[in-house]
Amino acid sequence: MFDLTKITRENIKALKPYSSARDEYEGEAGVFLDANENPFDNGFNRYPDPMQRELKEKLSEQKGVKPERIFIGNGSDEAIDLLFRCFCEPGKSNVIVCPPTYGMYEVSAAINDVEVKSVALLPEVFQLDVERIKKAINENTRMIFICSPNNPTGNLISEKAIISLLDAFNGIVVVDEAYVDFSNTESFVSRLVQFGNLVVLQTFSKALGLAGLRVGLAFASPEIISLFNKVKAPYNVNVFSQQEALKVLERKDKSKELIAEIITEREKLKERLNELNFVEKVYESEANFLLLKAQNANEVYQFLIAKKIVVRNRSRIMLCENCLRITIGKPEENIELLTVLKTYENEKSIVY
Ligand SMILES: *Cc1c(COP(=O)(O)O)cnc(C)c1O
Repeated sequence: MFDLTKITRENIKALKPYSSARDEYEGEAGVFLDANENPFDNGFNRYPDPMQRELKEKLSEQKGVKPERIFIGNGSDEAIDLLFRCFCEPGKSNVIVCPPTYGMYEVSAAINDVEVKSVALLPEVFQLDVERIKKAINENTRMIFICSPNNPTGNLISEKAIISLLDAFNGIVVVDEAYVDFSNTESFVSRLVQFGNLVVLQTFSKALGLAGLRVGLAFASPEIISLFNKVKAPYNVNVFSQQEALKVLERKDKSKELIAEIITEREKLKERLNELNFVEKVYESEANFLLLKAQNANEVYQFLIAKKIVVRNRSRIMLCENCLRITIGKPEENIELLTVLKTYENEKSIVY
């Protein structure tokens, strides 16, 4: 049985959080003289709502999740760091990650002096090796990180495999859904009530187009969210970011349109890339990028750089030999990419 108290660090259980002026008086008032703010209005002279109530209400409506199950952070990277600080004992606990995947889990583990056990995804299909993950779990394992759709491979991870880990593991299973809006699947958010050990991460950075504002989300049990709220910086999401995030949610139809356009571009680009003779494979993607296997990825990468096009060279990453990760751009950018790759293809085929 999963028991949150068994995996929560003692110092966090005992922590008495900082109580800000806005925490102590939450109501409306005409005169606020409690936070040492500058009284002259310039749009940003007041501290932000520490609990982002308005934004959580709107998210709650749209995602079908109660506000007390929502954490909003300075990017989802903040939620990842909070997971380590709440549940991992430095120098003692370990976590499991499944490479090739998002690099931040490992960096956050290292910052918090937490051991990382790597259980590679199955080659080419990039699915979880559930049996090996289960064998890697020991009494100090606190979390398993799963990214779906996975970065950098682009595929969805089997729901059955994730559920099998949620059932079997008495620690936290983190399902990172940064790219879920580009996929054809239901979010794991709908399973929160069923699994007390599930934490779902989402973000405003990708599909919603607010990478520059740093707004990330975690969905979990109210108990886990309370721990995050205790540990987080009091004013972790600034006023402007909260306002703009709310506006984006109010423009839902516009976001949907742009997402649909990116998906159409993805499928078009995939087809065109597959026609190039130096491309060995373009993997199926449910995200806003494509993973491409080339005959000589480093050479292609350098050729693109020389033409001022930057993609992500993933060829040194395990199971991604000769792979490039290409973000779906605007239609004209994707055409430019294809034109340059066509030039590369032509130059390669000239026999001297
Ligand atoms: C981009 C990305 C994020 C988003 O991080 P933010 O801090 O919210 O910008 C999270 N997880 C994965 C797998 C990503 O690729």
